[in-house]
Amino acid sequence: MVLIELYTSVQGESSFAGMPCIFVRLAGCNLRCSWCDSEYTFTGGEKFSLEQIERKIAALAPVKLIEFTGGEPMLQARELLPLMDRLLAQDYTLLLETSGERPLNSVPKAVHKIMDVKCPASGESGRFHLPNLGALTARDEVKFVLSDRADYEFARDFIGDHDLASRCGQVLLSPAFSKMPSRQLSAENCRLDPRMLVEWMLADNLPARLSLQIHKFIWEPMKKGV
Ligand code: SF4
Repeated sequence: MVLIELYTSVQGESSFAGMPCIFVRLAGCNLRCSWCDSEYTFTGGEKFSLEQIERKIAALAPVKLIEFTGGEPMLQARELLPLMDRLLAQDYTLLLETSGERPLNSVPKAVHKIMDVKCPASGESGRFHLPNLGALTARDEVKFVLSDRADYEFARDFIGDHDLASRCGQVLLSPAFSKMPSRQLSAENCRLDPRMLVEWMLADNLPARLSLQIHKFIWEPMKKGV
C-alpha cells in the first residue's frame, strides 16, 4: 500500500471525536474538492507491505482505534480490505473515511464507514455512488461538508429524500474550513459560520449533528500529522 503518514492523535470528527486514534493516511485521490485540506496526499507516499503496516500499528499500542483516511483509501481497496480483515481479527475498531465515490459494498460490515456526500460548492457534487446508501448500517456516519446556504439546502433535501437518519447511525453537518486560515484557533476560519448553521438546523428540525473539526481548534489549522 502507498502510505503518506501513520501516527497517533485524537479523532477530530464524527461520533468518535476526542478519542485517541491511529491515523493511517493513504496516498492518492480521484476527486479535487475546492476546500480540500489534504492535497499533499495526491502524489508521493511510500510503499509498505501489509505486514509492515501491521507492525507500525502494533508499535502504537495500546491504542485500538484506527482510522483509514486519505486521499481516498478505497482507491487501494485490493490491499486495504484484507488489511481490515486482519486488524478486525485483532480486535481493533476501524473507521473508514471515504468520499463515497467508490463502491463500499465490499467493506467489512464491522468497519464504521464515515462517508461524505459532496455538496455543490465542493465542485465534486454528483460524484456520489448512490448504491452506497444500500451499504449503510447503524454503525455508519454520513457527512456533508458545507460552504454556504446552497450546500445546506442540498444536504437538507438529500437527508429528507433518502431518509438518511434511518439508514445510518449519524448524519453529520460540518462547516468547510478556509484554505487560507489564519493561525487563530477560531471558528472565523470556517467558510460557513457554525452559529448560522445551528440556526438553520434548529429551524428545520434536521435529524443531524453539528460536527466541528476539533483538531483545527487544538492545533494550528494547517498543521499536518495531528
Ligand atoms: S475527497 Fe477528500 S482528499 Fe479527495 S479532494 Fe476531496 S477532500 Fe480532498
